[in-house]
Amino acid sequence: MVDKEVRVIGAGLAGSEAAWQLANSGVRVKLVEMRPLKSTPAHHTCEFGELVCSNSFGALSPDRAAGLLQQELRAFNSLIINTADKFAVPAGGALAVDRSKFSCALTETLSNHPLIEIKRFEQLDFPSKENITIIATGPLTSDELSYKIKDFTGINACHFFDAASPIIYGDTINQEIVFKASRYDKGDPAYLNCPMGKNDYIQFRNELIEGEQANLKDFEKESANFFEACLPIEEIARRGVDTMRFGPLKSIGLWDPKWGDLYDKENRLKKRPHAIVQLRKEDLEGKLLNMVGFQTNLKWSEQKRIFRMIPGLENAEFVRFGVMHRNTFLESPKLLLPTLQFMKRENLFAAGQITGTEGYAAAAAGGLLAGINASLLAKGKKTVSFPSESMIGSLMNFISNRNKIMSNQKKNKFQPMPASFGLVPELNKRIKDKRLRYKAYQERSKEALNVFKRKLDSCFEKDHILVEIY
Ligand SMILES: Cc1cc2nc3c(=O)[nH]c(=O)nc-3n(C[C@H](O)[C@H](O)[C@H](O)COP(=O)(O)OP(=O)(O)OC[C@H]3O[C@@H](n4cnc5c(N)ncnc54)[C@H](O)[C@@H]3O)c2cc1C
Repeated sequence: MVDKEVRVIGAGLAGSEAAWQLANSGVRVKLVEMRPLKSTPAHHTCEFGELVCSNSFGALSPDRAAGLLQQELRAFNSLIINTADKFAVPAGGALAVDRSKFSCALTETLSNHPLIEIKRFEQLDFPSKENITIIATGPLTSDELSYKIKDFTGINACHFFDAASPIIYGDTINQEIVFKASRYDKGDPAYLNCPMGKNDYIQFRNELIEGEQANLKDFEKESANFFEACLPIEEIARRGVDTMRFGPLKSIGLWDPKWGDLYDKENRLKKRPHAIVQLRKEDLEGKLLNMVGFQTNLKWSEQKRIFRMIPGLENAEFVRFGVMHRNTFLESPKLLLPTLQFMKRENLFAAGQITGTEGYAAAAAGGLLAGINASLLAKGKKTVSFPSESMIGSLMNFISNRNKIMSNQKKNKFQPMPASFGLVPELNKRIKDKRLRYKAYQERSKEALNVFKRKLDSCFEKDHILVEIY
């Protein structure tokens, strides 16, 4: 057993996983959870790892991004995924759980661990310099601590509301329709543009206005009111027939040479498409594309249906749908290393949704990495980062390293990101068939993790066990 104790703040998915990894490696843990003394606006119980909305961890199959992430977590003895497997309910191809049994089992396992001390109070103070601490207080971090985090990180490095546009896979757009250009040909052609005729536009607008909205919780409605500057696209559409055309869908100054005499290049003001939807690269290669100005509160199924009406996006596949909700998250690329340590303070870690990952398994992945590294630090060893070929590694790289890979740093504000194959490095050889490509990603992750696990086990002075479950 190690002398040093690690404090984990927040017993959600990330904090529970971190505490488990620490305790299992022989490190004493103080796990601080404010519920039930104080609850968040979304939690209803006092159990650990409460799933506040859906009971699904996403696709189960490892040739899908969510499934691969789950597989990798299993390989590292994740408490969250092992417990989810134990209390799984039938859900087609997804891993869904009996939420009550899942959280009760987590609470029981952690409460019974001899190296974990549970403390039920709201952490009000910022963690002291002396202790190793993991902040895992999630998207609904309590106000007092949020302000302290904001003071520590700086005013622009902590966000409280997430209004994000959908992100789509670059290889699912119709290249025959979509064209590359920057407005007035300024600089490199940085945008991909989807031109719309008048009829397309009118129909699209009608569907947007009629589209079914996601229910905002009361606390989110309050936050959303402060967000006039970042209106949902359907609200812009509602304000007038042409409001979108004078806003995010304006077509002026955008030109595709292949139009020839269909439009008049010299006199673009008069003859040009009725509207243009712009897509901006999220990564250098353009594997992920952001729909510019399309933050939305439409239901996800409606986003898929309506946004596929845009010419060129008929077969678009979505990495992440647009959202507008309360979400406390850090501008992680400015603050965190891929080890999840703060650049400013090596014994302070962040994990879970507060770091800008999205989804239950992604939160567990952050907890797993922060737990492993806090344990290494407590033992006086060097911290590690996961290989970028793995889904865990590419997610952590994305949140900690994003400025380096951004094509357009000024315009791309950091936004939370779920697991996606768009984040993993390209393969050495191009595989066109998507299923085969995903399978190759899976194989490559397995190999990289076997090497990584050997290194990790030698750090922990354990016998190496191969990653066997793929
Ligand atoms: C309304 C809502 C719906 C969501 N729906 C989904 C969904 O359907 N699917 C999905 O994948 N993700 C969803 N999410 C995101 C989801 O919250 C994360 O995926 C996941 O729960 C994040 O895990 P976490 O451990 O980072 O945070 P959480 O699970 O929220 O855990 C944080 C914990 O910290 C505690 N805490 C906060 N402040 C303090 C403090 N000062 N002192 C002590 N304890 C504190 C909280 O009580 C909580 O237990 C939703 C989020 C919200 C807000």
